[in-house]
Amino acid sequence: MLDHSCQVCRTSAVADHEYFSRAFGESRRFAATSEAVADALGFCPQHGAALLSQAHLSREIVSVFRAVIPRLMPMLEEKYIYEEQVQRIFFAAGNRCPACAYCNRVAARQAGHLAREFSGMEGKAGTRHLETLCVAHFKTFMAELETPTRLAALKQYVNILNSAARAIAKAHQPGTIPNGDLLEGESSTCPRALAQIAGEPGPGADHRAIAIGDTLQQYPTLSESIAHANGCPLCLEVERARRRWTSEISIAAKLNLGRWLFFPACPGHIRDVVRIGDPELIAAVTAHALHVAAEHFRQQALALERADELRKEQAMAPIVRWGRRRRRKQSEPSFPTPLRPTRCPACERLGVAQESAIGSLLELLRKEKLRSAFNRGYGLCMKHFAQAYLISPKGVIRSMLAEDQRNRLADFALMLDEMAKVSPENGSMAGGIVAWPLALQRFCGFI
Ligand SMILES: [Zn+2]
Ligand SMILES: [Zn+2]
Ligand SMILES: [Zn+2]
Ligand SMILES: [Zn+2]
Repeated sequence: MLDHSCQVCRTSAVADHEYFSRAFGESRRFAATSEAVADALGFCPQHGAALLSQAHLSREIVSVFRAVIPRLMPMLEEKYIYEEQVQRIFFAAGNRCPACAYCNRVAARQAGHLAREFSGMEGKAGTRHLETLCVAHFKTFMAELETPTRLAALKQYVNILNSAARAIAKAHQPGTIPNGDLLEGESSTCPRALAQIAGEPGPGADHRAIAIGDTLQQYPTLSESIAHANGCPLCLEVERARRRWTSEISIAAKLNLGRWLFFPACPGHIRDVVRIGDPELIAAVTAHALHVAAEHFRQQALALERADELRKEQAMAPIVRWGRRRRRKQSEPSFPTPLRPTRCPACERLGVAQESAIGSLLELLRKEKLRSAFNRGYGLCMKHFAQAYLISPKGVIRSMLAEDQRNRLADFALMLDEMAKVSPENGSMAGGIVAWPLALQRFCGFI
């Protein structure tokens, strides 16, 4: 990791490893781990992919998933669909991950510590302190500050982001940068700017390198991928939408059109653009995202100032009108309403693509022929199952989805039991099938 990387990102990366060795490394924690995994219906795709590289924990992963499945089986009974616990767990499954929760807690603790340090700093020392925070972690840090300090931090951070954007624009003038230099070399401004806006690459960042281009071509539409034997068709559709977005963004950049519609604002999607490998595009996207973030924080600073002025006016007004001070109303807000988080067009597009794929799947499953194809195929990962199941109307499709998922998990439980018996070392059976990556794929949803 480079020197200019965000210090909270560095701590988060350590926390990732720490989480895996805590959750899977000590058998006394297995019960708590399986409860947390069952509550989230798995991990996020990134942590699932990161866990996939922890082959030394395979036996422990098998043990945990052997305990997760019996916890979930009763929830897959259709008669319990409206139970509070089932609704709560299934509804939130798409956004929950026990590893993310652990890392976020660690990051918030460190951000709190840094905020306390910052409160005692002045001038350049404070700016240097803020320069080491990526945008996402600056938000966590800012939430820990008292209002006057928060306002000062916001103003300084806006300057930091604007000067990073200016540095890119300067380096990006035609003919001034040799291609390929943007991501390499300490003299370049882009690695610093990129780390500022996107933080460090998260866990399992390269999981998309898994070659699925052939699968997407083999199953060009959902009605075909419904029968895919090796992966969730909804995961496949989201990946198809992501690839469509990455091809459109290059065109949008070349034509200098629709940046607000295509250019990403969240770290994960900015990193997706980095993986495309076009230095000009990376510079344009980084500069755009810096401007967007700077504007967001500038608005937040303005809102804080306005609220402060309002408070002062309210405190003064009674003296003028009535000659004596009225007591402040209890309902008076101490902070302005927080601004809506910056929207990331890529997140929005993929969210829409996912919702539309779920809708199309439920529509396709009305045909008996396609229901049979679905039953013969891979079925759904747990995260997508939860979303499709909850919105499916009562009837033959909902019952089929619940039964299909129960059968798959029951088969899976038998397979894990066999594997635990046959080869406790790596979770592989005599036939050479390895169980634990299959478990991760079923529960984490990556392709
Ligand atoms: Zn960070
Ligand atoms: Zn996660
Ligand atoms: Zn899926
Ligand atoms: Zn995004």
